[in-house]
Amino acid sequence: MIRSAMMIGLAVATAVGGCQQRAAPQGLSPSPATEAFEAEREAMVREQLQARDIRDARVLEAMRRVPRDRFVPEPFRRHAYSDEPLPIGRGQTISQPYVVAFMAAALKLRGEERILEVGSGSGYAAAVLSLLGSEVYGIEIEKDLYDRSVVTIGGLGYPNVHLRWGDGFRGWPEKAPFDAIVLSCAAERIPDPLWAQLADGGRLLYPRGSAEDIQELVLVTKTREGRREERLAPVRFVPMRRQ
Ligand code: SAH
Repeated sequence: MIRSAMMIGLAVATAVGGCQQRAAPQGLSPSPATEAFEAEREAMVREQLQARDIRDARVLEAMRRVPRDRFVPEPFRRHAYSDEPLPIGRGQTISQPYVVAFMAAALKLRGEERILEVGSGSGYAAAVLSLLGSEVYGIEIEKDLYDRSVVTIGGLGYPNVHLRWGDGFRGWPEKAPFDAIVLSCAAERIPDPLWAQLADGGRLLYPRGSAEDIQELVLVTKTREGRREERLAPVRFVPMRRQ
């Protein structure tokens, strides 16, 4: 896995991927206490986000507030604020904090947006986005991950996060249009249903490319004339699968 300062990425965690952990019994977690995590989260914001190029105050505040440790399976919880993606089971990963913040900042959210996330995984990015827009709709194809994300999100209380198990390729037509759509998995091109569900003036952010390639993160704005495209950064995400 190639990673450099210029390379932001959600690694396919081959070394430790595919893990299927049992949830630790409630209240018996050997993890550091909540206060210790707060200090780690503050350091993460300072050292991984502010020290790089994340300036958006709302994004920084959201990253300060969402407890990433609660979205990470117990064996990896002590690494929750490290500068890397972590396995969440089923061979999938929770993105590096910097990637989540970078993508959230790229969407330039103001607070009123209805947001669709394809590949909501652990629910972490959805929770961050929910503090930046008005409603977040997350779709996850892996049933186990979806089930766990519902418990995590429900336990923490993010009333404006709505989760669904299914193939995000088809979007969530009943809830369209969306002001922002973000793909947390890579696709060769924008699925037609997702483009159709994007509001006029809306923004769609996705890692473009295949599993083998280095992908690029692309921001596409739906305009009256068609589309405007900005290529933001090389990335590496898990591929979008079909059901
Ligand atoms: N945003 C997530 C990152 C999860 S990784 C988080 O914060 O934890 C990307 C996720 O995309 C994986 O969980 C994978 O199962 C999911 N995925 C892949 N193809 C999909 C599809 N067609 N529809 C919905 N989810 C998909």
